[in-house]
Amino acid sequence: MSSQNLRIGILALQGAVQPHVEKLRALSAEPVEVRQPKDLDGLSGIILPGGESTTMIQLLKLNHLWDPLARFTRERPAWGLCAGTILLAKEVVHPAQESFGAIDISVSRNAFGRQLDSFIEIVSPTDHWVDQNRQEAVFIRAPRITQVGSGCDILFQMKSEPIMVRQGHALATTFHPELSTSDIFHRYFVDLSEQHG
Ligand code: GLN
Repeated sequence: MSSQNLRIGILALQGAVQPHVEKLRALSAEPVEVRQPKDLDGLSGIILPGGESTTMIQLLKLNHLWDPLARFTRERPAWGLCAGTILLAKEVVHPAQESFGAIDISVSRNAFGRQLDSFIEIVSPTDHWVDQNRQEAVFIRAPRITQVGSGCDILFQMKSEPIMVRQGHALATTFHPELSTSDIFHRYFVDLSEQHG
């Protein structure tokens, strides 16, 4: 299958949706905005964007999407970014809240403190990533990944802390690649969806 036939969902209840639409279109994948359960039909993967995770949880329940999306993310390609990472995580603290448990990480919300609420940093790939190029990463009230299960691969780190992690078909990024010029992260998820979707 070429990425031309690939339908990739973007959870579109709240948060940073449009930049993902543009990145996916530029890669010839078809972006599908997901607002109700039937929007999940026929998707090869789904992006859970940045935003406010507590609000997203409320809207997911209101729109009857919590259970279908929990199932989808445990079985199919799913990429959480920032708030989306919080939704995918196995454990959330500071404060604790419900999550899908699609990826074996613990996260602490808003963990960079006030002065560092938002910042841009040059970050480094590990050997699990596709190349050895450092990348710009935009962090906005980001969570910290405080624990990584043994089944997960760390793909990117900032200094020595994990900021992008993969477990099979589940991908989690604490920063916002949709706000940088590089398309390498979206390309990686499109490829993952092509292989596992
Ligand atoms: N601080 C937000 C939360 O806890 C996440 C921020 C973001 O997605 N940029 O849900």
